[in-house]
Amino acid sequence: MSATDCLFCKIAGGEIPATIVKRDGRLLAFRDINPQAPTHVLIIPTQHVSSLNDARDAGLLGEMLVFAGNLAREAGIAERGYRVVVNTNPDGGQTVFHLHAHLLGGRRMTWPPG
Ligand code: AMP
Ligand code: ZN
Repeated sequence: MSATDCLFCKIAGGEIPATIVKRDGRLLAFRDINPQAPTHVLIIPTQHVSSLNDARDAGLLGEMLVFAGNLAREAGIAERGYRVVVNTNPDGGQTVFHLHAHLLGGRRMTWPPG
């Protein structure tokens, strides 16, 4: 399923340009347009899922985390560390309603998040 007006579906379909980092199976990684860290990559399923609230495929969610770990290694940030974030709905800070994980690294993160 592809949501007609979904920005990330359009990126997955090549209708809107993005800096693609990696494509593998059911997943796509591309650079965040407004990076919050030296490495800031978004990982999405190519098929539309609105948010973590609608994600029922445990295999897909597992693949997203393995993919994030591989991307971190390839970006050279795995040893120093990084953060993987899935913002969900308004209180979680989600602004694009196509499931995505943020991979952030290359600087020291703070806790608690804002
Ligand atoms: P979230 O707030 O968790 O929904 O994250 C959405 C992210 O998408 C933000 O970090 C935005 O900077 C990013 N974003 C929005 N539009 C684009 C785009 N066209 N290409 C790449 N990243 C985008
Ligand atoms: Zn979508």
